[in-house]
Amino acid sequence: MVDEIKKNIAEILPEIIDFRHKIHMRPELSFEEHETAALVCSVLDKYGIEYRSGIAGTGVLGIIKGEKSGAGKTLLIRADMDALPVCEKSGCAFASEKEGVMHACGHDIHTSTLLCCAVALNKMRGSFSGTVKLMFQPGEETTGGAEPMIKTGVLENPKVDSCVALHVEPSMKVGTAGFKSGPFYACPDEFDIVIKGRGGHAATPQKCADPLIAAVQIITAIENLPTRLLSPLDPAAVSVCMVNGGTAYNIIPDSVHIGGSVRVFSDADRDTIENAIGKTANNICAIYGAECEYEYRRLFLPLINDKNTTELLKKSAEKYLETQMLSEPTMAGEDFSYLTDAVSSSALFWLGCTEDDCEGYPLHSERFFASDKCIEYGAEIFCDYAINFLN
Ligand SMILES: [Zn+2]
Ligand SMILES: [Zn+2]
Repeated sequence: MVDEIKKNIAEILPEIIDFRHKIHMRPELSFEEHETAALVCSVLDKYGIEYRSGIAGTGVLGIIKGEKSGAGKTLLIRADMDALPVCEKSGCAFASEKEGVMHACGHDIHTSTLLCCAVALNKMRGSFSGTVKLMFQPGEETTGGAEPMIKTGVLENPKVDSCVALHVEPSMKVGTAGFKSGPFYACPDEFDIVIKGRGGHAATPQKCADPLIAAVQIITAIENLPTRLLSPLDPAAVSVCMVNGGTAYNIIPDSVHIGGSVRVFSDADRDTIENAIGKTANNICAIYGAECEYEYRRLFLPLINDKNTTELLKKSAEKYLETQMLSEPTMAGEDFSYLTDAVSSSALFWLGCTEDDCEGYPLHSERFFASDKCIEYGAEIFCDYAINFLN
């Protein structure tokens, strides 16, 4: 089976690498992936793979039906298609032609890998039963395209039994893959605190309700909340990333805005931190006679990988490249979490994307670069897992 998978992928690979260069040069922001989706559809058309397009905006769902008789399970493999508002400085030969838009998170690799896997699996459909759904989703970098696609019913008819995905990882070399069961990505929530005081002269603070002194104390207090309110064994971060207020050296302002992010791995920890930030902000404001408006927005769910699926993916991967178990989760967010939440036998793994003589700039960096070679490895792992899972 390994040789057949390798052969089928090698046959399509040059075409897919061209495709990758094309979409890398023409990156599109979240929910604007029109050209990318059209290119995906044109490849699916060419190889006679059935699909539906225009799902939750620009999403595409390809469908391959196995021709072997058997249990008839359904596997969904997911790729995200969107790019970021970054000016590319990677220096690569197929750099973005669009000023200020770049595939700086490697979603061009994810899309190409899934397409490569799709064409190879379609050729091998005689060797498995059941159904493979190919989910090309929009908008991972902003509000998320996975949840809206699920709401249109992509997990039903036939009902999906397992979901898998990969993310490229620049701290790991090409030819390696990393696996983690259990908590893998945090929820990337956001909050805003607007402190409404009463401004006035710098020389008479007693006549004002100073929002700045309240802001300073709120920041110190809320960044410390996880250390006292959550278990020391629960990874968590509260990071204030914006503070805006004040216009002159001698004026106490009327108001200050604080904005930031909360990263935790469970709903219980989320509830605790959401409530505690509100209480802290209100109580500190009250001391100084200021008022407080607080808004907490829950974004993606935390991503929890299924242990058994992670082990099966790793077993497939071991046939094609070097593998390792990752010891720590990441505090980043990932909307594949809606799929792991909806379908318990699901997991995402990391695929090393940095070539030996390259530096490995981080995801979202203007210098981020992922090697073409990832596509082959990623597609091999997906194909191998698909055939094993469906039989
Ligand atoms: Zn990203
Ligand atoms: Zn990403």
